[in-house]
Amino acid sequence: MEAYRRDRANDPNAGMPLAVVRARSTEDVQVVVRIAASRGVPIVPRGAGSGLSGGSSAVDGAIIVSLDRMRSIDIDPSTRVATVQPGAFNAEVKAAAATHGLWYPPDPSSFEFCSIGGNVATNAGGLCCVKYGVTTDYVLGLTVVLADGRAVRLGGPRLKDVAGLSLTKLFVGSEGTLGIITEVILRLIPAQLPPTTLVAFFPTLGGATAAVLAISSRMRPSMLEFMDRTSINAVEDETRMGLDRDAAAVLIVQTDEPGAHAAEQIAKVEEICNQNGASECYSTDDPEEGEAFIHARRVAIPSVEKKGSLLLEDVGVPLPRLGDLVMGIERISQARQVPIAVIAHAGDGNTHPLLVFDPRDEEQKARAEIAYGEVMNLATSLGGTITGEHGVGRLKRPWLPGYLGEDVLELNMRIKAALDPQNILNPGAVLAEQPAVVREVDLATACH
Ligand SMILES: Cc1cc2nc3c(=O)[nH]c(=O)nc-3n(C[C@H](O)[C@H](O)[C@H](O)COP(=O)(O)OP(=O)(O)OC[C@H]3O[C@@H](n4cnc5c(N)ncnc54)[C@H](O)[C@@H]3O)c2cc1C
Repeated sequence: MEAYRRDRANDPNAGMPLAVVRARSTEDVQVVVRIAASRGVPIVPRGAGSGLSGGSSAVDGAIIVSLDRMRSIDIDPSTRVATVQPGAFNAEVKAAAATHGLWYPPDPSSFEFCSIGGNVATNAGGLCCVKYGVTTDYVLGLTVVLADGRAVRLGGPRLKDVAGLSLTKLFVGSEGTLGIITEVILRLIPAQLPPTTLVAFFPTLGGATAAVLAISSRMRPSMLEFMDRTSINAVEDETRMGLDRDAAAVLIVQTDEPGAHAAEQIAKVEEICNQNGASECYSTDDPEEGEAFIHARRVAIPSVEKKGSLLLEDVGVPLPRLGDLVMGIERISQARQVPIAVIAHAGDGNTHPLLVFDPRDEEQKARAEIAYGEVMNLATSLGGTITGEHGVGRLKRPWLPGYLGEDVLELNMRIKAALDPQNILNPGAVLAEQPAVVREVDLATACH
């Protein structure tokens, strides 16, 4: 059971489950839920365990319901719909769609090792979401096992359906707290055209974030990613691909416009980057060469993970505040003496500050924990969110009440109580029975 206790957030408070059930069908899941409901035993639904917020951390005495054996994928090219069991990996759905000339766009960096069920339960984002939207934009229908063991079908293979309340959307992003997803009906689109890629290095953070805003206000690239100096160096340590270690930041921009439009768009992006002080721009229409840069971005989290223990954030702000966020994080890093690597789905205003600390250094660990809260408070003060795509899970739960406010928190609690009155589904994730005490943080340090 040890292997099923934690996700990639490595929650030190993960409990010890009573049992792990590897379901093979909706009926299997129903049987487990009925047994658990009759005895008030908690259940933690689990996909591939790649989550970064402790959403599938085990609870003492719980049954882990793992969906990793439910992996069938059925593509209907005539309606461009995929019917997928939750344990199938995102990459497997993409590959199955591609055999019919179709594409499932949402592409978390973890796409090769995360499940569709986990993607739906967290409403996962990714790199191409800046143009193509996030998971919920592709979910047409769900089969969900409710807390009393009934299985319901929501939505279906229809592009339009407004009958009843929008319950399909309610379950997307519910992080295993409202029901267990056992089948997903996904919308597919025609395959993406080969992309053209531009990489631009900047001597200042402000130049890079100003370029992001200028690009986003003038065009719709299919990718607009950011890495700061600490991330660039961590990736360069691992890949030795020749990234500029002295740059304050790098932007990786892609366009998938057809024919000459791609070259036109990339030329405009280059012009904007140069106007904002880029020290070097490089572009390529060779998809493989472009993929090497995307690979650099995808391996950023594992590369920074090699530097120490991580506290991983997912804060997002409205695009005009991106510069304030990134520079505020740099100030927090300096004030707390904790290295913070920042990578971002910059076009979405969604950043992943990675706080690095030595787990043997209790004093630095304590400072990292304070900085973790300061980053979330900074984002909130800039009109942003505490999580853009990873979910609240268990690690960000103390900050949820402050972010939502009393009335919206109570609405969340009422919905949870209506669907799971015994609180057996993923208890302790997202919502606390009693709002947790928000740690005191020094906002003045964060904002100045
Ligand atoms: C290197 C790296 C890069 C990443 N990049 C991204 C990124 O770009 N974008 C992004 O959004 N995320 C990213 N992630 C985070 C993670 O991969 C996503 O959150 C993913 O959606 C989790 O899927 P999973 O199958 O691993 O779910 P798990 O981690 O197993 O579970 C996640 C949550 O979903 C619930 N859950 C899982 N399956 C079900 C189900 N069938 N029914 C009900 N609830 C369920 C769990 O209880 C838990 O709350 C990254 C992670 C890593 C390690």
